Amino acid sequence: MDTEKGPLANKVALVTGGSRGIGAAIALGLARDGADVALTYLNRADRADRVVDQITALGRKAVAIAADNADPAAVTAAVDQTAGTLDRLDILVNNAGVFPYGSIEDTSLAELDHTLGVHVRGVFVATQAALRHLADGGRVINIGSCLVERVPYPGVALYAMSKSALVGLTRGLARDLGGRAITVNLVHPGSTDTEMNPADSTEAAAERDFIALGRYAEPAEVAATVRHLAGPGGRYITGASISVDGGFAA
Ligand code: NAP
Repeated sequence: MDTEKGPLANKVALVTGGSRGIGAAIALGLARDGADVALTYLNRADRADRVVDQITALGRKAVAIAADNADPAAVTAAVDQTAGTLDRLDILVNNAGVFPYGSIEDTSLAELDHTLGVHVRGVFVATQAALRHLADGGRVINIGSCLVERVPYPGVALYAMSKSALVGLTRGLARDLGGRAITVNLVHPGSTDTEMNPADSTEAAAERDFIALGRYAEPAEVAATVRHLAGPGGRYITGASISVDGGFAA
């Protein structure tokens, strides 16, 4: 390990949905630990470029790639571009996400397909593509949700269903990839202050009542666990679902 550059020196990470929120905090955190980082985004090139600038200011390499997680060809191309541009791939963080809200009666087939495309098929395809590049000892870290462990209010059945698929994928892949010392884990953030779920929204007060610690997480608090799983301290953790939810599911 190059202790001067951090525990992830000479490693390359790809973070999907790294332009804002939790993904941006993860991308920055992995860079602070020494990794070069590629990040994908959907629309917000300005925000992606800002994260790239912050990472390069740390002395690390960074690249932003427009890639819709619902588009398998774009996801595969983003993985290949990461390995091609940054020379290797060690860590894949499947973070890109959307928040469909509403009753099952009001949910269209298009929204169902889109949510599953981003949260399930996109994760599967990104991981499949990454496996062609991942070094032995690599890491796959999926971002789930506290709503996998507990659904205390209505309107989130589709969201909870889509994130729940990652439990099976994570466990199965942990078994498939253990022989290569590649670990696969699932992090369940709780209510985290981002544009998806602002801590100052009208709904936030009710959501806060479900949290044992009584407050929203900062994105960096979720990123801290991802950094641990990506680093040397995470090498014996695989197939796990880890809640970083302030006790939402307690
Ligand atoms: P956010 O602030 O809305 O940011 C979403 C990120 O995902 C952005 O970088 C966005 O790119 C990207 N993205 C959205 N749709 C995409 C697509 N189709 N293809 C590629 N990228 C896409 O969300 P967040 O709160 O940071 O959430 C990050 C992850 O944590 C998600 O998986 C979410 O479900 C999960 N999570 C969040 C919370 C919470 O309370 N915030 C709680 C539990 C789990 P653009 O900037 O280009 O739009």
